[in-house]
Formats: sequence, structure tokens, C-alpha cells
Amino acid sequence: MKPSQYAVIGLGRFGSSLAKELVELGYEVLGIDKNEEIVDEMDAYLTHTVVADSNDEEVLRSLGIRNFDCAVVAIGDDIQASILTAIILKDLGVKKVVGKALSALHGKVLERVGVDRVIYPERDMGVRVAHQLVSPNLLDYIELSKEYTIAELSATRKLSGKSLKELDTRARFGCSVVAINKKDGVIIAPTAEDVVQENDIMVVIGTNEQIETFENAVN
Ligand code: ADP
Repeated sequence: MKPSQYAVIGLGRFGSSLAKELVELGYEVLGIDKNEEIVDEMDAYLTHTVVADSNDEEVLRSLGIRNFDCAVVAIGDDIQASILTAIILKDLGVKKVVGKALSALHGKVLERVGVDRVIYPERDMGVRVAHQLVSPNLLDYIELSKEYTIAELSATRKLSGKSLKELDTRARFGCSVVAINKKDGVIIAPTAEDVVQENDIMVVIGTNEQIETFENAVN
């Protein structure tokens, strides 16, 4: 079942942005931070906020944290606090615990103490930005495996007015256009007759190499 109630512990830059977005998406969010000023600031955005030290098991218990579907430990700099909080959350029986790690070792420890999902926002964002810097038309991508990627590419002027049949990406580059996002809507599973206009967003699936060759050819 999809979680509906989230607790975000540590409302720094990452935690506060995550918590606000979950509320925007329509979920109930409890935000916890030991810093009163930060909590006061976030109170207007989140469903509930509490000033508390998450290393205090009794406090977390009294907040009924075990009834939350998912708790995110967004404490970064204080690695000890991050790990202790994760252990307490698992001990209290929170179903899904997500932990933010600043380093590979931090992540490994979080995994060892039973965190269900470890995220590395800074490392992952660095990789993402590097890809976008070297490929200016790449808007976003998901790595399906080491080899395969789904990429969102902005259609260049060179492609404008061309149908998928004319582009013939599968035969020429090996990659397939699985959707075209146009100003007036998305075409899912486009046909050979669908036409690309400049600035449309093409969703392309293929190997990293195929997508790169396609991108270079249309630049
Ligand atoms: P970011 O890089 O995302 O800003 P930080 O690690 O700098 O992350 O901030 C984490 C937040 O976690 C801070 O607001 C800090 O007050 C809070 N925090 C740190 N330790 C605890 C703790 N034991 N209990 C509750 N909040 C904590």
C-alpha cells in the first residue's frame, strides 16, 4: 500500500524541501527538528511540526512515530544522530525508514542498521548535473540499468517538423521515442506519423550510447 503519512526528521535544506513537496503532493507530513527556529519557520507549510531531539526514543514513541507509514531521516552532518535516529525508528517498528547519507560509509552503516532505502542526494545530483552539462538537450533521465536509460530530450530546430518515420531513430540510432510531450499534451506511444516540433520533449529509451549518438546527430 502507498504510504500516506510521512515523518521527516531533520528540516535542513534537503528535509524541508522534501517535506514541503510531500505536502504539495497531498500527503500528511510531520516535521521534526531539534532547532526551534527552523520548526517555527516550517510550521506554516507542514501538517504538524514538533521541536524534538530524535535521539530520544521516548519522545519519538510519544509522538506515535510507529504509526507513520514512512519516516525519512534527513539529518546529514551529524552522522551519529542520523544513525541513532534510524536505529530507534526501526526498533519502534516504523514500516519504511529512508535515510539520507552523506558518504558511502554513512550509507553502509544506515543499511546495516536496517534502513529500507538509503539516498545520496548530493552524490546523485552531482552525477545528474554532470550529464546535463555535457548534453545540453538532456532535461532528465532515469537509468534503467547500467546500460539502458530513459532520457527526456528537448527537440532541436533540426528535428522540427519531422515525423518519427522520417527521424527513424530505431533504425538509425537503435533508440526508440516512447512519448512526445507537447505544449498541448503528451502523446504516449507515438506512431510513425506523429510530428516533432522544436522544444517538444521527446522521451527516448535506449542504451546510453544510442541516446548519445542520437543527441549528437540532431544538435
Ligand atoms: P542539509 O544539508 O539538508 O541542510 P543538515 O544536516 O545541515 O542537512 O541539517 C539537518 C537538520 O537536522 C538541521 O536542521 C538540524 O537541526 C537537524 N537535526 C540534527 N540532529 C538532530 C536531532 N538529533 N534531532 C532532531 N533534529 C536534528
